[in-house]
Amino acid sequence: MEQQSNVSLFDLHGKTALITGGALGIGQASARRLAEAGAATMLVDINLEAARATAQDIQARGGRASALYGDVSEVHSIDAIIQTTVETFGSLDILVNNAGIYPFASVLEMTEAAWDQVLAINLKGAFFYAQKAAQQMIKAGRGGRIINISSINGLTPTRFLSHYDASKGGMIALNRTLALELGPHHINVNAIAPGEIITPGTSAASPETLEQAGVTDMNNSDFLQQIPLNRLGMPDDIARVVLFLASEAASYMAGSLLTVDGGYLLT
Ligand code: NAD
Repeated sequence: MEQQSNVSLFDLHGKTALITGGALGIGQASARRLAEAGAATMLVDINLEAARATAQDIQARGGRASALYGDVSEVHSIDAIIQTTVETFGSLDILVNNAGIYPFASVLEMTEAAWDQVLAINLKGAFFYAQKAAQQMIKAGRGGRIINISSINGLTPTRFLSHYDASKGGMIALNRTLALELGPHHINVNAIAPGEIITPGTSAASPETLEQAGVTDMNNSDFLQQIPLNRLGMPDDIARVVLFLASEAASYMAGSLLTVDGGYLLT
């Protein structure tokens, strides 16, 4: 294998990335990192206004970005979104399956609608985006990368998040099967399990809701002591690892799960 320079290992010029939930939080930070590395980025989100604002911000920094409305649970919309991405930027090389929600509901009070919504967005949406992105990648014959944003909740439980925990555990299992089936098509599939990251989503939960669910406020100093690196994560902590998995540096990785949690799972 020819030795590439460190810089070219992380160069994504000529590649296109589609990031679901790319308007805010981890998806936004991932889009920024991938764009800075040279990738054209398509931000797909239900919050089109915020997605457009993120795309404009990326453009203002010299990157390539565009935004599309898309609810990942609406499988019928995916083909058109992928087609528009390819028409806009010429290819689809990297999919970041990031869109996800984490509303609280106790086991005893869970409704069918709440269960279905979380599974439809976090797991079904991720599967069909992977399927349809892979079909496009195989058609184009350029290989590709699929990066699944799971969670440490797929490995360890949180009260009141049974549907979320199931969706993220499901994603970890799905990550392996996708890697197994798509690897022969030169599509590397890998996952990230973020720990506690400060995002608009996690910041939105009120202290009362957290208390009711028996979840420690993330800013509580006792909680911080459970994290060996002694701080909460920032979206860019995850985005850097997304960049790594999208890059040539990760070219021999398939079916891996990288925990990015400041060591939280060690405690
Ligand atoms: P966030 O709520 O801050 O941002 C999520 C983005 O996804 C928003 O732009 C939102 O509009 C979009 N979105 C929501 N539902 C959508 C749908 N149906 N279709 C398309 N877009 C949709 O979330 P975040 O904290 O950045 O989390 C991003 C991902 O990371 C999620 O999958 C989440 O489960 C995972 N994660 C987050 C943390 C954390 O602590 N923040 C930890 C582990 C895993």
